[in-house]
Amino acid sequence: MRLPISLLATAAILVMTMAAGSYVDLRNDEMHARQLAISTGLEKIVRLNQELSGMLLVSVLEQNTLRSASFQTVHDKLELTVRTVEQLTRHLALSEDISALSTERRELRRVELEALERMEADQWPQARQLLFDDAYVLARKIYEINSETAIGALNGELAAKATAFKRTRIVSLAVRAAALVLLLWTGLMFSRRLRRELAEQARLRDEIVAANLRLEDKVRARTTELEDANRRLADLSVTDGLTGLANRRRFDEVFAAEWQRAMRRGLHLAILMIDVDEFKAYNDHFGHQEGDECLRRIGAILRTNVQRSGELAARYGGEEFVVILPGFGRDEALAMAETIRRSVQAQGVKHTITSAEGVVTVSVGITARIPQPGERLEGLLRDADAAMYEAKRRGRNNVVAADALELPSLGEVGLEGR
Ligand code: GH3
Ligand code: MG
Ligand code: MG
Repeated sequence: MRLPISLLATAAILVMTMAAGSYVDLRNDEMHARQLAISTGLEKIVRLNQELSGMLLVSVLEQNTLRSASFQTVHDKLELTVRTVEQLTRHLALSEDISALSTERRELRRVELEALERMEADQWPQARQLLFDDAYVLARKIYEINSETAIGALNGELAAKATAFKRTRIVSLAVRAAALVLLLWTGLMFSRRLRRELAEQARLRDEIVAANLRLEDKVRARTTELEDANRRLADLSVTDGLTGLANRRRFDEVFAAEWQRAMRRGLHLAILMIDVDEFKAYNDHFGHQEGDECLRRIGAILRTNVQRSGELAARYGGEEFVVILPGFGRDEALAMAETIRRSVQAQGVKHTITSAEGVVTVSVGITARIPQPGERLEGLLRDADAAMYEAKRRGRNNVVAADALELPSLGEVGLEGR
């Protein structure tokens, strides 16, 4: 998130006012220091002037040769002080107030130099005349008065300036305080806005997470539903609707797989082909509905008997059923076929055509062998079918093994009553 313009502007104002305030403070201190230096300088000028005139007056009264060297030293000191004060006052634009002093000083200097010349020429009365003349004494007085006036004027002016500075300083302090308050307030507003936006973002994030979770749940539920539906569809696509047994498609798949497996492992594979006897007549007499019911019962018998892993009972088409028995040799297959045949007969569904005591029966053809490489699986099926037809031919309600077809009497194992 970017910093708001108001916050940046307030910070800039604060920095600017602090800089301006510091500048004002600095100037104030500087002005005070100069003020002090000027006052001290002016007092020193008066004192040095008094010293000079005193030296001259004493010399002329005592008629002593003046030691001009010491006069010169004091005078140099005076010049230096004057220059310093002038510089300082020029800085503060105050030179106007002490300009009168310079004129006075020049006049005094002129009289003093002349008196010095007279003294050196031993013209004591003239020197005395010059120094005690009103012009010199008065000028000295005026100089002193002017110095005091100048100091007073300077002090007054400097005090006025100091007051102005003080006012500026107070204003700058007030602006600084206001800028600081403004900055704090803007910062507070900004942090509140930031908190609100963060909370809003967190809320949106939670909502998105919740929505995603809901969506994931829905997708999961829908996926499970779809998987169930697909499973049901897949089951339906390989199940016979009437009997609930596997359908022809499933049979084809399993038969091909078992054929390959048996061939690979060198195991037996047996097929039973089962056909309901005189079923057309049954339908004609009892009706198609009853015919269906009859087929369902036979389907149930097959399910009961064909249960072990790898075994499969399927509706081959119409009133024909087929059973796959992996690992079953001829005798075991014959035994299973016989069990099925007996079970159908034993359930005693009434039939008009009495090939076997007036009940519904089935004819079963079997074939069992170890599939050989290069051999086609249709052969096994064809043989079972042929055996089944042979069973029909032999009077129905009968089990016939394909290998017995050449010798029908040997393959015939299941005639009722045997
Ligand atoms: P056979 O002993 O020689 O097998 O005599 P059959 O009457 O059974 O002869 P066929 O195989 O020619 O007749 C089969 C009959 O089975 C014909 C049809 O009416 C009946 N059928 C086939 N499928 C169905 C079915 O799904 N439901 C019913 N109710 N009858 C069926
Ligand atoms: Mg048939
Ligand atoms: Mg039939």
